[in-house]
Amino acid sequence: MSDSVANLPPLREIIAEHGLNAQKKLGQNFLLDLNLTCKIARRAGDIRHGTVIEVGPGPGGLTRALLMEGAANVVAIEKDPRCRPILDQISAASGGRLTMFEGDALTVDVTKLGDAPRRIVANLPYNVATPLLVGWLKQASEITSMTLMFQKEVAERIVAVPGDSAYSRLAVLANWRCDTKMEMVLPPRAFTPPPKVESAVVTLRPLETPRFDCMLEDLEAVTAAAFGQRRKMLRRSLKGLGVDTDALIDAAGITATDRAENLSVEEFATIAKLYREMRKDQS
Ligand code: SAM
Repeated sequence: MSDSVANLPPLREIIAEHGLNAQKKLGQNFLLDLNLTCKIARRAGDIRHGTVIEVGPGPGGLTRALLMEGAANVVAIEKDPRCRPILDQISAASGGRLTMFEGDALTVDVTKLGDAPRRIVANLPYNVATPLLVGWLKQASEITSMTLMFQKEVAERIVAVPGDSAYSRLAVLANWRCDTKMEMVLPPRAFTPPPKVESAVVTLRPLETPRFDCMLEDLEAVTAAAFGQRRKMLRRSLKGLGVDTDALIDAAGITATDRAENLSVEEFATIAKLYREMRKDQS
């Protein structure tokens, strides 16, 4: 079965045949080197069981790789209807292991697309990559792994640790919920057409339970306030939360002159938990 996928015509030929000129507004930067896409697919872990969810399969370079690497069931969500016939051809060659849904991944509940273990693997459209990731973090208990291509700068923000210049709200949210790992960095020339910036693949593996006790929505609020004004001391940047900031910082046992970039994930979780309790006391 995998052999039939490997024997499909070259991606460049398929793109030309279907007139799939890349559209910027859809973030279309295609991967046409199957050696590279197979390398990415192998970073996704054991894909022979459960469901692989691919966002934005485009002409199917990564899709083919997932199938060639033995994925039992790939469910792909693609916004561009021009990709349908191409993906149908891949589905047929794979013996029906690929199903495509046409639509906007931002509105799709990925946990409804197939059985666990669910692994999301994607060369993401960069304009919606961050909101997609934040949405998946909210459903992390239903997801086994996410192997995702981002702009390198965003990837660095996901894996950063306190004190790094890239340490960010995304790093706190992601590492509170998952183990994160930078897998590989890719130059613009790896894509067709090449984007302006470097790219990188990150794997996020959700932990069984979050690393520290607090609610994601509180962590989101606290990190948005803290990193919204990252150069300011927390005493100032957390003011927007609408609770007694001095009392919050005191109770969390952190130094009022600290800045967001120096706080650990655990400290952010402590603040988030206290923030909830203080709001409860206020109401
Ligand atoms: N996976 C292909 C590859 O690696 O060659 C294409 C990756 S390209 C960076 C991003 C893909 O996401 C495009 O095919 C684009 O049409 C699709 N896309 C863009 N926005 C989307 C959205 N909101 N929902 C689903 N797919 C989307």
